[in-house]
Amino acid sequence: MIQLFLPLNFLGFVYREIRRALTDLENMLGLLNKKPHIADTPASQLLTLTKGEVSFNNVSFSYDANRPILNNVSFSVKPGTKVAIVGASGAGKSSLARLLYRFYEVSSGSITIDKQPINTVTLHSLRQAIAIVPQDTVLFNTSIRENIAYGRPTASEAEIDQAIAMAHLTAFINSLDKGDKTLVGERGLKVSGGEKQRIAIARAILKKSPILIFDEATSALDSHAEQAILTAMRAVTQNHTSIVIAHRLSTIIDADNILVLHKGELLEQGTHSELLALNGQYAQMWQLQQEQAKNT
Ligand code: ADP
Ligand code: MG
Repeated sequence: MIQLFLPLNFLGFVYREIRRALTDLENMLGLLNKKPHIADTPASQLLTLTKGEVSFNNVSFSYDANRPILNNVSFSVKPGTKVAIVGASGAGKSSLARLLYRFYEVSSGSITIDKQPINTVTLHSLRQAIAIVPQDTVLFNTSIRENIAYGRPTASEAEIDQAIAMAHLTAFINSLDKGDKTLVGERGLKVSGGEKQRIAIARAILKKSPILIFDEATSALDSHAEQAILTAMRAVTQNHTSIVIAHRLSTIIDADNILVLHKGELLEQGTHSELLALNGQYAQMWQLQQEQAKNT
C-alpha cells in the first residue's frame, strides 16, 4: 500500500509543478502579447535626415487604456539645440523618450523628425538617427571595448579610442590591468554606476547619431562623478539635437529650452531664467533643490 502511495504522490507533485510552469509560461506570453506590435510595413520609407528637428504634436499616450500617461503634449526641438525635460518621478519623462525611439506607439497625435512622422519610416532608419543613454544601462558580458564598439560595429579602432577619450574613460581604463580588454557585465568586473554611464555615453558618441537622448544619465551619482559625465555630455551634445531628461536642475540650466512635465502634461516651458521669472513650478523646484544643496 505504502509502495503504491508514494509514487502516486510523487506523480501528483510532478503534475502540479508542470501545471504551474505552464501557467507561468502562459502569463509570460500574455504579457508579451500585450506589448504593441511595432514593425515596418511595405509602405515604410527610409528616414531622410536634413536638420534633425524633432516635434511632438498633441501626443497622448497610455500603456493600458484606463490609465493616461501623457496628455496632449506638444513641443519641438530645433535642430542642433538642447531641450531638457524635468518633472517629478512618474511624470512621464522616460515614456516620452520611449515614444521617440518607437518602443511604443502614441495613442493619438504624432511625432515627427524633419517633418516625417516616425511611424511612416523604417524602424532601422529611425533608430540609426537616435542614440539613447538610458536611465539604467545594461552592459554585455564582454570587454569594455566591445561594449563600446556595439554603438557602431563598423567603427574604426581610432574612432573607438576617440569615443573613450571623449567619455572621460581613459584614466579608468588605464587603471585596469587588462585595460579596455577587461571583461564587464554580470560575470565580469563590477563597475560603478558612473563608469557604466560613461561606457554608455562612449557607445552613444560612437554611434554618431544626429539626435541624442540622455535619460537621467547622472541622477545616481555623487557630484564629482556627475561633473565628469556632464563634461563628457557637453562635448557630445554640441551641434546635436539633444533631449536631456534631468533630475538635478543644476545640470540643465544651460539648456536652450526646458520643459516642465507634470502628471503627463506640459506645464511650463522656457529657458532657466524665463522659468525662474515665471515663478511657477520650475521656480519652486529650483528653490527646493538649492536649499537641499545647502544642507548637504
Ligand atoms: P518618469 O520617467 O517621469 O519618472 P515614466 O515615463 O517612467 O516617468 O512613467 C510614467 C508613468 O507610467 C508612471 O506612472 C509609471 O508607473 C508608468 N509606466 C512606466 N512604464 C510602464 C510600463 N511599461 N507599463 C505600464 N506603466 C508604465
Ligand atoms: Mg524616468
